[in-house]
Formats: sequence, C-alpha cells, structure tokens
Amino acid sequence: MDNSVENSHLVPVPVLHEGGLVRVVVPGPFLEGFDYRIDQAVLPGQRVCVPFGRRQVVGVVEAVLGKTRVPDDQLKSVTEVLDPAPLFSDKLWTLLGWMAEYYHHPLGECLHTAMPGALCAGKPFQASSELKYKSTVHGQPHLLTEEQQAALARVTLGQFSVYLLEGVTGSGKTEVYLQLIDRALQAGLQALVLVPEIALTPQTMERFQQRFAVPIVALHSELTDKQKLNNWYFASTGEARIIIGTRSAVFAPCQRLGIIVIDEEHDLSFKQQSGLHYSAREVAIKRAQLEGIPIVLGSATPSLESRYHAMVSGKYIHLTLTQRAGVAKPPQIYVIDMRQQPLYHGLSRPLLEACQKNLAAGGQVLFFLNRRGYAPVLMCHGCGWAARCPHCERYFTLHLHPLQLLCHHCLTTQTVARQCPRCHSTETLVDVGVGTERLEAALRDYFPQETIVRIDRSVTRRKGELSQRLSEGHSGKASILVGTQMLAKGHHFKGLTLVAIVDADAGLFSSDFRALERLSQLIIQVAGRAGREDRLGEVYLQTHEPTHPLLNQLIQEGYPALARSLLQERAAVPWPPLSYLALFRAASKNHRAEAFLKQAKELLLTLASENLQVLGPVPCVLAKKAGYYQWQLLVQSTQRAALHHALKIVVRQLYEIKSRGVRWSLDVDTQEL
Ligand code: ZN
Ligand code: ZN
Repeated sequence: MDNSVENSHLVPVPVLHEGGLVRVVVPGPFLEGFDYRIDQAVLPGQRVCVPFGRRQVVGVVEAVLGKTRVPDDQLKSVTEVLDPAPLFSDKLWTLLGWMAEYYHHPLGECLHTAMPGALCAGKPFQASSELKYKSTVHGQPHLLTEEQQAALARVTLGQFSVYLLEGVTGSGKTEVYLQLIDRALQAGLQALVLVPEIALTPQTMERFQQRFAVPIVALHSELTDKQKLNNWYFASTGEARIIIGTRSAVFAPCQRLGIIVIDEEHDLSFKQQSGLHYSAREVAIKRAQLEGIPIVLGSATPSLESRYHAMVSGKYIHLTLTQRAGVAKPPQIYVIDMRQQPLYHGLSRPLLEACQKNLAAGGQVLFFLNRRGYAPVLMCHGCGWAARCPHCERYFTLHLHPLQLLCHHCLTTQTVARQCPRCHSTETLVDVGVGTERLEAALRDYFPQETIVRIDRSVTRRKGELSQRLSEGHSGKASILVGTQMLAKGHHFKGLTLVAIVDADAGLFSSDFRALERLSQLIIQVAGRAGREDRLGEVYLQTHEPTHPLLNQLIQEGYPALARSLLQERAAVPWPPLSYLALFRAASKNHRAEAFLKQAKELLLTLASENLQVLGPVPCVLAKKAGYYQWQLLVQSTQRAALHHALKIVVRQLYEIKSRGVRWSLDVDTQEL
C-alpha cells in the first residue's frame, strides 16, 4: 500500500555535502529555532527528529545555515530526516512565516497549528487508503438572477482580489460560489471553501457532491487523525479538487489553488481563541494574495471590518445580492416589550399566543436561547446563598439531565444540594433564570400535543444524537425546536415559520463594543431561517429595552443601515476597523499575572508614541477561571505599523522574563474583550 500512494511531487533532493548545519524550529515557547548538525541535504519545510533536552522531538527545518554561533562541542545532530522533500509549497511556507511575524508567535507553534496531528507526531506523510469518491452528480447549475450574474461577472480568476459577497438570506450566495468554483475546476485548479462548524452541516458536503464529479475532501476537527492526514495528503497531491473545512483548513497544502471561498465570513469561529490566536479569514486573504488568486467572503451580515473595506477603504470589491430567490419574502420582525409582563418560564403571553396560532396552522417554531442547562443559578430563597464554582467564582448552572451543577467555564461538576449549606434550610432552594433545558420542559407542559427537540452543546456528547435530533427538525417531525446559537448556523428547516428570540437583552446590555454587531448578525441569521415559499415568516424578539434606537433601526431599515450607524459610533472612539487592537492575557494562581502585565505595560510605555494607547491591566470579565486569576492588557493604535513595531520589541522582552507560574498569550486583532 505504501508504494502505491508514493508521492509524485515529493522528489528526493540529492545529498550535496556532509557536515551541514540547519536551524530547526520545535513546538514550544521559543521565538528562535535551534541549530543542529545534519549529514544530508535538506530544504526548509522538511520535518526532522532532533534531540531536545532529554527528549527526541519532531521539528521542522527553518533554514539551512553556513555557520552557527553554537560551540562545536555543544552542537547536536539531527537524528532523522522524516520527509524526502518539504511539506509546504513555497507560497504556503511564506504564509506560515508571515503568520509567525504578524501574530508575534513562535514559528514552531504556527507549524504545529497548521499541520495535522499525525504529522506533528512524526508519522509519515502518506495516505493510508486511496481517495474514494462517488459523484452521483445530479445537480444542475441554477438559472441565475441578474444580480447573481453581475456578481459572477466581476470575479476574475488568476489575480488577487478580495470580494465581499453581501447577500440577504435566500439570495443564492451558494450558487455564486458553486459557479465560481466550477470555473476554477474547468481551469484545472483546486478550490478551498471555509465554513463555520462543518461537522454540524453535512448538507454543505452533500450540496457540493451533488454538483461536481470531482473528489471533494473535508478537513475539520471531528475527523480522526488518520482521516485528517489522508485528506491533507490528497489536497497536496492535487487529487482532491475541492477542500471544504473549518478554520484550520486554511492551511490545506493545495498545490494548484485557484480560488478561496469563506462562507459566513463574519462568524466568530474563524478566529482561534487559544494558543495561536489567528483569524482564518485574515490568513486566507494573505494566502490569496501570495497565490495571486481571488478570495470571496460571503455573508448576509458581513463583519464591520469587511464592510468597511468594501464600502469605505476600497480594499475589497463589494458584490451585493438584495433579492431573495423565488417568491419567498423576508420575515416580519416584532419586538415584545417584556417590562412588567407576567412570564411563563421566561416566555411572554403575546409570544405564547403567536406560537399557538402558528402551530395550529401547521407551522414549525424555533425558540432561540443562548443559555444551555436548566437554570443559570441555584439560590437559597431564605438567606440568599447561591451555588458557585469554587475555581471560577461564577454561578453553577443547574442541569437536570443528568442532575448536577455544572460550571460552564471550567466544566467542574457538583451534586445538587438538597439543603442550603449556609442556613441549612431544606425548603428554600430555588432555581433562578431560564436555560434551554427548562424552556424545553416548560414548552412540553404548555404544548403537550407537539413534538419538541432541543439542540445545544449538551446533546452533542453522545454520537449520533445530534444528527438524530436535527433530522427530526429537518423532516418536520418535530414542530418545536429549542436551541442555542448552534441552530442559527446553516440549518434550513423547511417548515419553519416562526422564530422566537427569547432573550435579546444579553446583547443589548453587554459592555463589549462588538455585542450589538453580534446580536444583530444573530437576529438576521435566525430570522433568515423563518418563512416558506407559501407563507411569510414571523420573528418575535423579547426585550426589556424595546425602544433601543439601534435595535429599531435594524428592524426597520435592515442590517446595512445599522452597520453604517455602528461604524460611525466606532469611528468616534476609535474602535476597529478604525483602529487596531492587541490584547495580552495572563493567568496565575496568585498575583503574578497582574504583576507580569504591569511589567508588559512599562515596557510598552518606554516605547510610548502618540499612536499607542495602553489600557489596563484589568481583571478579565471572567476574573477567575479554574483556579487561575485572569488579567488583560489592551494595546490600541490607529496605525497598524506602530502597533506591530511595539509588539515586536515587547514580545521579545517578555519571552526573556522568567515569570514562573504565569501563563500568558497575545491576541492580535482580538475579537472578544
Ligand atoms: Zn440559605
Ligand atoms: Zn469553574
């Protein structure tokens, strides 16, 4: 088997001379690589096994050297060369180097983020099976609307441009992607498609498979190590013509990439929130630039960053689809004033009545609540005691299935007390607030005739359970769906005619300057799920602030108008995209995290320029997590170059500081404050 899949493009390089030197990057907190002797010729991008301390580790050759500062008697030798040729094309290698520099992150760590786990572990770069594909192609290109035709006509293959495809839900963005990809395939090129949460949307794969008679592979975190390695391999040989994946698929080693598409480009899942805090959208744009190819960012509710570049800075080309395909009309949005309303487990009477009417007419209803579990707090009505996680100092969430208190921040569990630990009363423990489990139970009582399914993270643990529940929703067997934002992404429920946003207040009252952008994207996304060809959709939004001017602008004038207002607000501060942010985070079991960030601040202030604001350090919103105190330091500038200049110097100094017990990270272009 090994020989049958021998890699055609990995041509072994001849041995040039003996006794050479290489710099090797290894995973870990090391900004620089380490020098080793090597007795065969290699190129940057080949994996090697090297002695490191007392261990052998897998590293990647960063450069071939003429000389080294390491004294001869301390110089160790490469144990083994693992690849006959570099794993990465020149362009991908350049991209990874750019990423290390842009995110001020060790190259060794960047490479480990980019490679499948099997390659990080030193496994051979080969496929364990052949690429299978069906292709049963029965989909036909659709007749295009004038807007779709105009959008397609603007995109040119073979040259770099960023296109923002802003299209209302149902306007046929996917058809535009498909026809663009078809063009790339006809030209013998590969296409890379990034989507949020592919594991939840097998229909994305299906839709592509029905249309194209070419091998298509997926790359996402639900695959086994073996599957991931195989698919990465098929991308590198060019056998896989279309690669569909989540965030990390941006590193797929395609040799003949012709186009990149990012669907739902505004989605937060494209930004990695730990380790290397990269944005797959920004990395993909850089990749397209290096490859000299077009990249299409699609969304019904583009991020303000992308809209700004399409409409103000002129960096992106703006393509718009304003008409829904077919006869479906956009849904009607109603705001329900919750103030002084009697509530039934968080649901107001007007909402329950509208649901009743809708269900009686054969419609399907979706309740959206971004809080899983039964109740967010378990409290003593007698003395005011509330159950908190000892490691995070946050409230435990009460879950009924299984019955336990669960900390949503560190996943600590506790049994549910029958007696208040403070006043010892056994009569007064009450659950406060509404989570999806409670909502589901309340709806079962209120609508006993209906079939109800709940979809949130809690049901993804058992294999097959999620797809089972989703199919009950898709087939229409379930008339009521209850879910978190997992339900807002990419699902199409044919019978859905009413969407209820149970609690819009979390977004309206948040201190994060992006909260309103996120809330409005969510409202438009879930609203897009409502409505059928024969029946207008309805969206009900419960809030204690029904007169919020921006909320009303969203409802009356739509997302583009709201986005303009939000951009004006941000320009006044200025917040991104009118300025650039980087956030240092540090955590420790003691005061050291705060002290560490104070030190970072001092270093930044010595570089002080008018163009640099340093804010903090302040405790994170989640001030304590899993026993660690968390602090943050925000650096802001209106000039990207000034910000990065300062970060480059300071990060280098911070790596030198011995800060025992402090975990720290830098988040460039942070999305969450
Ligand atoms: Zn008590
Ligand atoms: Zn906790």
